[in-house]
Amino acid sequence: MSAVADHIVTTLREVLDPKGAFVTLHEPVFAGNEWAYVKECIDTGWVSSAGAYVDRFESDLAAYTGVRRAVAVVNGTAALHVALLLAGVERDDEVLVPALTFVATANAVAYCGAVPHFVDSEERTLGLDADKLECYLDEIAVVEGDLCRNRQSGRVIRAVVPMHTFGHPVDLDALAAVCDRFGLVMIEDAAESLGSLYKGRHTGQWGRMATLSFNGNKTITTGGGGALLTDDDALADRAKHLTTTGKRAHRWAYEHDAVAYNYRLPNLNAALGCAQLEQLGGFLARKRQLAARYAEAFADVGGVQFVTEPPFARSNYWLNALLLDEAHAHERDQLLADTNDAGIMTRPAWTLMSSLPMYRTCPRMDLAVAESMERRLVNIPSSASLEARLVEA
Ligand SMILES: *Cc1c(COP(=O)(O)O)cnc(C)c1O
Repeated sequence: MSAVADHIVTTLREVLDPKGAFVTLHEPVFAGNEWAYVKECIDTGWVSSAGAYVDRFESDLAAYTGVRRAVAVVNGTAALHVALLLAGVERDDEVLVPALTFVATANAVAYCGAVPHFVDSEERTLGLDADKLECYLDEIAVVEGDLCRNRQSGRVIRAVVPMHTFGHPVDLDALAAVCDRFGLVMIEDAAESLGSLYKGRHTGQWGRMATLSFNGNKTITTGGGGALLTDDDALADRAKHLTTTGKRAHRWAYEHDAVAYNYRLPNLNAALGCAQLEQLGGFLARKRQLAARYAEAFADVGGVQFVTEPPFARSNYWLNALLLDEAHAHERDQLLADTNDAGIMTRPAWTLMSSLPMYRTCPRMDLAVAESMERRLVNIPSSASLEARLVEA
């Protein structure tokens, strides 16, 4: 065992007090009205693609995140796909996405027939580096009227999809300025940042659209689910239409006016979501306490930093992370083995999108910071339920 890995395992043990039971990375908490709302769906027969919980979940989400409209869909990947289509992303366009992200961000671009173009991260936020992106676009892009064209590939660069990594907001004002300068549409992949604020306002309010995920490992879950957020009523109406088979409203006729998708969230899942959203404030408070405890415990552990929110943000601390110093990056795999052996689940960050076989030939800028983060990041247990353990310990 290396000294740094050893010290980290001891510190995690002190904070989490595993007592024999395996501590997972992130698990859901169902402590509210979940049973009552789901039972009501079953009792009334409204389990599927229509029902009052879908409408309620959408209005509750919009109110919570401070946008005009939310459209609930089957998962976060579908939300991204539809957001890109509505942003006008077409076959053979390019879309700027972080290299350091979950695969859904790049896949949604590929579903549109477009090409993901990989952007580097900044260490402060783990998300897109606006300054580096601007310099890069000055070098490779030209603005022609409303369009931004990649001079190297000849393709139109249509949009930018920043992602709020592990819940920590990117510098949205700086990115919005770059988007304005180059005529790019911004879509926020806020899958990980429900409850995170940038300069006091909820993430998701800066992009023309934003997307959320309610997968089982996210801050709140609907089993599987997602949502598209926007302040634009016309876009929200189109999103609803495109995600509900393009069916025109009629008492009995099946008339569809577009090749559309069956991406709607079932009422059963929305019922779960309504109950989870009622508890979100409590989840966030508990996750903050856990993060504060980690920050305190790791303050004097050498060779590693606990990742904290950037100065302009209040993070939901969805998934806590340690960042090994460059000098100790080679000990990462040992640390992963030692922690998992000790009954504490840890995981490395995602393999960069630019290294995956299907995206290996896609355009990219210099990815030095993302590459460094990939080597050094380790996620550690983050469930809201762990806060109870801290009190016991
Ligand atoms: C979870 C997640 C998504 C969406 O995932 P689904 O499982 O499709 O809901 C998208 N982007 C990021 C960065 C995510 O973490």
